[in-house]
Amino acid sequence: MPIVTIGAEGRWTNYHGTGTSEEATRFALRSGVAERGRDEIAIAARAVQDWLAAAQVAKRRVRPLGAGWSPSNVNISSQSWLLHTRRFNRCFRIGGDDVRPGIDAAALMLVEAGALVDEVSDKLEAQGRSLWTSGAGNGQTFAGAAATGTHGSMIARGGIQDHIRAIQIVTPAGIHWIEPAAGVMSDAFIAATGSIPLRDDAIFAAAQLPVGSFGIVTALIIDSVPKFLVRPIQNLRKVDRAALDWLAEGDFRRFSAAYAIDRDPDFVQMIVNPYKPFKRAAMLRFLYAEPWRDDYPRATPGQLGAGHDALSLLGRLLNDYPWARGALLQFAMKLGYASGPDVDAPPVFGSWGEGLDTHRPLADLFNASVTIDRADLTRAFELICAVYARHGGSTVVTVRFMERAQGLIAPARFAHNAVIDFDGPRSQRTADAYARVVERLDAEGIVFTRHWAKSCRLDAARVAADYGDDFRRWRAARDRLMPDPAHRALFGSEILDGLGLTL
Ligand SMILES: Cc1cc2nc3c(=O)[nH]c(=O)nc-3n(C[C@H](O)[C@H](O)[C@H](O)COP(=O)(O)OP(=O)(O)OC[C@H]3O[C@@H](n4cnc5c(N)ncnc54)[C@H](O)[C@@H]3O)c2cc1C
Repeated sequence: MPIVTIGAEGRWTNYHGTGTSEEATRFALRSGVAERGRDEIAIAARAVQDWLAAAQVAKRRVRPLGAGWSPSNVNISSQSWLLHTRRFNRCFRIGGDDVRPGIDAAALMLVEAGALVDEVSDKLEAQGRSLWTSGAGNGQTFAGAAATGTHGSMIARGGIQDHIRAIQIVTPAGIHWIEPAAGVMSDAFIAATGSIPLRDDAIFAAAQLPVGSFGIVTALIIDSVPKFLVRPIQNLRKVDRAALDWLAEGDFRRFSAAYAIDRDPDFVQMIVNPYKPFKRAAMLRFLYAEPWRDDYPRATPGQLGAGHDALSLLGRLLNDYPWARGALLQFAMKLGYASGPDVDAPPVFGSWGEGLDTHRPLADLFNASVTIDRADLTRAFELICAVYARHGGSTVVTVRFMERAQGLIAPARFAHNAVIDFDGPRSQRTADAYARVVERLDAEGIVFTRHWAKSCRLDAARVAADYGDDFRRWRAARDRLMPDPAHRALFGSEILDGLGLTL
């Protein structure tokens, strides 16, 4: 049986303890042992459809769960049936006969929706392939990460959902195989997955970033690039105000030459102390991609600079000693940030996956962001730091860069994006300071969007305004996939209804 019940009705708290589903009945979708992936997902998708029918009979809403990481509580739903997908995590190669003409089967992998980003990355790397971007951590499920538009700071890439070439989605009315109109997989392959093909650009673009409102994603076809090496450079440097202009213009080479090495970087991330961001050293991370070679000296994740969570340990101090916030944050940045590999250290290399870490749960996490047009960085950045610090925001501020991401309601919707994250310990003061930041951006007429997974104070009116026609297209696509309002309501929750995604 692919779906099993876990325990009696009760409470379920998400990974970082930001929300609890009350009176929840928990189920788990589990991988089987079928030799071929298409057979396995056909069995699972049928079981999911039966489970949805049973939930309707029981008059319960449903909530699919990935790793449960999202602090925005888009993974929380009380008086519901929860479906844990984490153990539905096998990955399968794709054969040349399984794809339509012109599609490179060797680049693709069939992934069960609960596979962690880490697991997908490992499987691809074992085949000489790689993801081209992902978030700073890799402990999310692939479907969960795509659902909220997870991203990192690969400057020429979009979000993790850009890897998706086809999606199997189960709704009460059917098992759908969704692809762009040009098609990806062969009809025979799709038929073997037990799905009805739906080749439609708008529905595909909507389903790439569904925020849990579009049915249950059971499987994905993931694209990849040839495996590559990255050389990290990580250092603490005072960043000059003028350097923001280079970043805003996309002159990452100049930024790299000033603070690391004179080479085009593929990844640039800057973590600053919002209290005097240009007077105190910022934590910089650069990655330089190189062609794969097997004989590179292996480095540990620590040597590669993976993970930077130690900051959250200072939560209590930051909250209790407001007068010392700027200094404490700087102290934390120094302690928590891997010291190197800096420019003058012997270079270390790793694959994309080796440079990532899976985060431990962070109780009392605060996590919010704004995504702006990169061209607005210079005028927005100092303003954001000033407002945030003035109102007692007690987290570091991270700046990351990415190109427009796929998915109709991807927050990275500008041609070139700067994403500004506020990640650290939770406190009311920090939440209020973030609220003042977004108020001020509005007052200054700086256009921005917010991350679906983070605690960003979004509501339905704001979502509709932020995404405009793309949101209307997203809803129209959702309604074509699930024309029956009762089916759409099945995926509702207090949070998702409030965002206007399920009504
Ligand atoms: C410590 C930490 C670090 C992070 N780092 C980054 C980062 O670097 N960059 C970034 O962009 N984001 C980051 N995030 C946000 C994170 O990537 C998202 O919260 C992501 O959605 C988590 O994936 P998940 O598998 O835990 O999904 P969940 O939180 O379990 O679910 C997310 C949404 O997807 C839905 N869903 C999950 N699986 C399915 C399915 N199979 N079918 C249909 N719907 C489904 C859920 O119902 C929910 O609505 C971070 C979050 C934390 C807590």
